Amino acid sequence: MSNKNFISDLIAKQRFFFGEGKTLTLQSRKKRLETLSHSIRQHEREILEALASDLGKSPEEALLTEIREVRKEIEFTLKHLSSWMKSRSVPTPLTLFGSKSRIQPQPLGTVLIIAPWNYPFNLSLMPLIPALAAGNTVILKPSEMAPATSAILAKIISDAFLPEEVALVEGGVPETTELLSHAFDHIFFTGGEAVGRIVMEAASRHLTPVTLELGGKSPALVAADAHVELAAKRIVWGKFMNAGQTCVAPDYVLVEEGILPRFIKALKKYLAAFYGDYPAQSPFYGRIINERHFDRLVGLLENQNVLVGGNHERKERFLAPTVLGNVSAESPVMQEEIFGPILPLVSVSDMESAIRFVQNRPRPLALYVFSEDRIFCEKVLRETTSGGACVNDTLVHLSSHHLPFGGVGPSGMGAYHGKEGFRTFSHYKSIVQTRTGLDLPLRYPPYPRWFRNL
Ligand code: NAD
Repeated sequence: MSNKNFISDLIAKQRFFFGEGKTLTLQSRKKRLETLSHSIRQHEREILEALASDLGKSPEEALLTEIREVRKEIEFTLKHLSSWMKSRSVPTPLTLFGSKSRIQPQPLGTVLIIAPWNYPFNLSLMPLIPALAAGNTVILKPSEMAPATSAILAKIISDAFLPEEVALVEGGVPETTELLSHAFDHIFFTGGEAVGRIVMEAASRHLTPVTLELGGKSPALVAADAHVELAAKRIVWGKFMNAGQTCVAPDYVLVEEGILPRFIKALKKYLAAFYGDYPAQSPFYGRIINERHFDRLVGLLENQNVLVGGNHERKERFLAPTVLGNVSAESPVMQEEIFGPILPLVSVSDMESAIRFVQNRPRPLALYVFSEDRIFCEKVLRETTSGGACVNDTLVHLSSHHLPFGGVGPSGMGAYHGKEGFRTFSHYKSIVQTRTGLDLPLRYPPYPRWFRNL
């Protein structure tokens, strides 16, 4: 069967399965989540091996950022699903006297999830969980750039589900292009802005709603009154995890010039503490996904003032944790999302200039502000727009089930995690239920003349 026929056939089978109502009950939704959880447990060792092979991820980091997050999301969803599925009664206006009104969540149907390579396990399954919880059938397309993880995901899914419930389609641009030519009930895409545009354009042809989880340059602002040691420690942690290939990693730091020397000293201290004097030998330091990205990143180092790191080894796809000083806002490293282990420091004379700097650039996925002054932090949060934010920390907003995760403007649209994911994959149907015993004649024509004076 050709790819085109294979995919049309798969979608038709999923639509039929959905139409039979097999995904609707609480029991069937819970069962599917439990089956997924079981299949993940069965394959845990292979998942760790795959993540090490694709990204040089240590088992500790893989457990922390990929597997545990998914497990926690399944547990949280199982705990709350019955309450999320309930319909909610709302008041009924007097004009609908005799009726009752409610809002009933309903699955969307057959949905497509497209995932990136940087957290290839997490970002494939985190959207799958709410899609299943909401009662949809799903086609999942992981990233071809993390082939080992894509292969183990295929195994996990085929062990757990019939293809008409959840199917995994492996492949890159041609396969995704083919998938995108079909009509889905929702497309959930995680990836870069350029492909986000392609997805949205393709979806518009079928008027398919989209969630776009994109990226961008997420700034960290470090004020003179910040707890400098902790700011440096948490920025190093958030930036160099997964070798900087994290959508919400602090992309660059706007730091008040008075504390710059102290801040640089603290950055060096924590880089050495986390990864040692030879990060290439550290079991906790990852690798760049492929040569193309490696070359792009090394290119960004040209004509820069390298304060730490900068050394690299193409064969190993190793680029040392790198800090750049005195970076000009016009340099190439400040134009696009870095998505690698390079941290530019941009010094500012005061924090007002830092706020203007952020305001004058595309709205980022995350923003991190470090200061001991609560009023100033509130001002930053109020005067800047970003998908999410942390005060005196990095990344951690991602790990709360109670916080929706998503971008704004060019960093994305829509959100998920916890109940927000269930909402994303559900339609909230408005229902008015009227009794037949009462039928007010006034709404039917011919209307009396005094209606005009109402
Ligand atoms: P990408 O946009 O290159 O690829 C994402 C997916 O799209 C992959 O599955 C890929 O196969 C597919 N794809 C690639 N080119 C395509 C094309 N021309 N037509 C159709 N499909 C295509 O992104 P990536 O490089 O995998 O990931 C990096 C980007 O993702 C960064 O910008 C990062 O910030 C962003 N990201 C965002 C989040 C988030 O949650 N907001 C999370 C991780 C990564």
